[in-house]
Amino acid sequence: MPEGDTIFRTARALGRALAGKPITGFRSTYPLLTRFNDDTPLAGQTVEGVEPRGKWLLIHFSGGATLATHMLMSGSWHIYRPGERWQKPRSQMRILIETAEYLAVGFHVPVAHMHTAQSLARDTKIPRPAIDVLSAEFDAQAAARRVLAHGGEEIADVLLHQEVLAGVGNEFKSEICFVTGLNPFRLVSTMTPEQVAGAVAAAQKLVAANVLEDSGESTVTYGGRRRRTTHATDPGASLWVYGRAGEPCRRCGEPIRRRIQGPDARVTFWCPGCQPMPDGSEIDG
Ligand SMILES: [Zn+2]
Repeated sequence: MPEGDTIFRTARALGRALAGKPITGFRSTYPLLTRFNDDTPLAGQTVEGVEPRGKWLLIHFSGGATLATHMLMSGSWHIYRPGERWQKPRSQMRILIETAEYLAVGFHVPVAHMHTAQSLARDTKIPRPAIDVLSAEFDAQAAARRVLAHGGEEIADVLLHQEVLAGVGNEFKSEICFVTGLNPFRLVSTMTPEQVAGAVAAAQKLVAANVLEDSGESTVTYGGRRRRTTHATDPGASLWVYGRAGEPCRRCGEPIRRRIQGPDARVTFWCPGCQPMPDGSEIDG
């Protein structure tokens, strides 16, 4: 699933391609979107901006409407020049926004709603900027309070709650726990307020580091001894623990462990040496 950093980079690229240019065409395989476009043609309007909100991508049109899309596991946006060959089959196209210079094609985008400003504000599934770790309006203290309110849950699960911290996905979850020395299976109620604040700060820092202009397309949390390269595509070369089960910890050498965690059965990676349980108990993995 794309994490907040991927959505952020996608929004930035789409915004650069589309913003301010008159729309010359709009197509979709979704009847509600084509009906909207029949009633209120997007052609002739401009894209005013493209905004990431957690795992949602919002495209704001000059007529006042906003297209909200969520990629879930399979969706992606591509940008092409007119006439350029598409990298996915046309049958997977769900949404197409055209200007004279670029085509933005949403492939397999499974969730797409056209919103007014009012309905957007009312949509509780789309996170507000204050809870998005990548937003300038992110409020870390309020985020820490929301984490603490889930005392009976394991910290790695709580980091995935998009209403607690929008933008953190499964890869970052394990990486945040590693860099803060927290065992992902410990209950939030066993953590000090400083540890909770540290986890929130790490979430903001790690995700933000992956949306820098030179951060490339893959997630990087581990710099290694050399400067990280912007073209590293091997996740094993760029992450502390995620995807590294059985490999030696980059800090202490103990084998990294892997286990399915939480009600949604998401995979978690951790180092038992660097991330002990507070009571010394062992987690099987
Ligand atoms: Zn270790």
